[in-house]
Amino acid sequence: MEWINSLPKIELHAHLNGSIRDSTLLELAKVLGEKGVIVFADVEDVIRKNDRSLSEVFKLFDLIHKITTDHQTVTRITREVVEDFALENVVYLELRTTPKRNDSIGMSKRSYMEAVLEGLRSVSEVDTDFVTESNSQKIRNACDGVRRKKIYVRLLLSIDRRETTESAMETVKLALEMRNVGVVVGIDLSGNPLVGEWSTFLPALQFAKDNDLYITLHCGEVPNSKEIQAMLDFKPHRIGHACFFEDDDWEKLKSFRIPVEICLTSNIITKSISSIDIHHFADLYNAKHPLIICTDDFGVFSTSLCNEYALAVRSFGLSKREAFTLARSAIDATFAEDEVKQQLMLIFDSASPESL
Ligand code: 5GP
Repeated sequence: MEWINSLPKIELHAHLNGSIRDSTLLELAKVLGEKGVIVFADVEDVIRKNDRSLSEVFKLFDLIHKITTDHQTVTRITREVVEDFALENVVYLELRTTPKRNDSIGMSKRSYMEAVLEGLRSVSEVDTDFVTESNSQKIRNACDGVRRKKIYVRLLLSIDRRETTESAMETVKLALEMRNVGVVVGIDLSGNPLVGEWSTFLPALQFAKDNDLYITLHCGEVPNSKEIQAMLDFKPHRIGHACFFEDDDWEKLKSFRIPVEICLTSNIITKSISSIDIHHFADLYNAKHPLIICTDDFGVFSTSLCNEYALAVRSFGLSKREAFTLARSAIDATFAEDEVKQQLMLIFDSASPESL
């Protein structure tokens, strides 16, 4: 399915530290191994393993964070992730990451995010646009005369479910400050779904919403009907996963028309969904409910957005035109400014399914 590579695509659910190239992770782990900070052989096995449960995924993230959480590395992985998405024709990327504090290396949530911004500035393989048109500091990489790929990038700041209300609030305040630069558009709630209470995060999320930040929530990754109902009643602008929804939840989701970020490979590998043919993609798609195909963690789950589209096309019998329409419909679910949405429509209009 070569044409899937040429299809313009929109990625709305990608975690920075889940989207690191294996080669980069192994290289970084080797250096830490040589310094005696970790045992490289143990780490190598974990990184190369392809099949992991949801709880193993979170153990892996703890390991990844040990390897990646310094300013220089955060900058590097941000650059590589943006380049990797752009090279598979992702034209708009909403990248999410959890701002981290690590006093021992002088890292604050703000300096972590500045390292992410530095990563965006350092992209050179493709043209990036990550500040709004109205901002006089608009940054665009120089075009070298050859037709280069161009990607719009916006950021979501994630709240980890291990955080306290105060820490979540700090992230929201940082997002509000960084919104002025134009690149940060919203807040995500993620992290181990078996940890933390909805009531802990609600004050910070409500504050974010009251201040017009967009909100997306990891919702229904484990059975928890009380939390799912409370999350839906909050009316987030999007949700991710929705694997353990019951009839009442589907009813509410559909009546509120909340778009769903669908991560097929992630759901199958973590066994949140037992087999692709019973995935809720089919029901939502047939009901014409807004949904977006996403990767979640292309590094951790060894996938790509092309691969996710190919899987959807194969599993649910989508035609080229249907896949194109699905990819285009993601524009409405982005948290981008209207001006960017219009640019994205032009990009899709200039790439009709017949031309792929
Ligand atoms: P980071 O925010 O550090 O850039 O990306 C990794 C983090 O994203 C993980 O530590 C976790 O909090 C979150 N994350 C990544 N994948 C998933 C997922 O499938 N489910 C949930 N709930 N959180 C995830």
